[in-house]
Amino acid sequence: MSLFAVAIDGPAGSGKSSVSKQAARELGWGYLDTGAAYRALTWAVQHLDGFDLEALAEINLPEVFEYDISTDPDNYWVRVGERDLTEAIRSTEVAEAVSSVARIPAVRSYMKWLTRSIVEGCGEPGIIVEGRDITTVVLPDAPIRLLLTASEEVRLRRRSAEIGAAETSQVQKQVSQRDASDAKVVDFMNPADGVTLIDSSDLNFEQTVAAVLEQIAAATKKD
Ligand code: C5P
Repeated sequence: MSLFAVAIDGPAGSGKSSVSKQAARELGWGYLDTGAAYRALTWAVQHLDGFDLEALAEINLPEVFEYDISTDPDNYWVRVGERDLTEAIRSTEVAEAVSSVARIPAVRSYMKWLTRSIVEGCGEPGIIVEGRDITTVVLPDAPIRLLLTASEEVRLRRRSAEIGAAETSQVQKQVSQRDASDAKVVDFMNPADGVTLIDSSDLNFEQTVAAVLEQIAAATKKD
């Protein structure tokens, strides 16, 4: 892989999506949200024939799941076939079911292949790829691997602020449950060997972006 890849993992509400997107924008690089593919596959299970949860391990996903995502941080979209799912994959129904799709081993190995092919084909000088297992499974050889965390209190506050105060307690419960189920499959709370931890509990958005850019600047200078 000749392009410069930055792998960023972290739990829900750690700010990894918005921080990764902004860092990519400032560098003029691509940005890849890997959670979107798990969400889009969950949406397919809920809406498309042939995508039953039980059948996911048996079907040939590369052949039947026509997934596409933009890697442009200024023009984000997600599609399955001709359908634009950019908004639909953010629904509560999808969020509540996504962990049960993400825990299927055949789905995870397909996602590893899918993510690597999107990264290889992105046509940018660099790309920031964010998710849960990017530093450990998908791009373990990336020149920069970061784990972005924040205390649970801060993460729940940030997530609620994104959604709106009325739904706060429901959202908090849902995020905590999703993190707990996801954490049974991949460890995204503790940095693996060689992964740099950035704790954003006491950092604002700009400071967190600056911390990520600093890591990238230090690593690109060494090259
Ligand atoms: O990042 P986001 O919250 O959109 O991810 C949605 C879900 O996709 C996660 O809760 C998790 O179940 C799954 N996921 C994963 N591995 C990744 C990215 C997301 O299992 N690399």
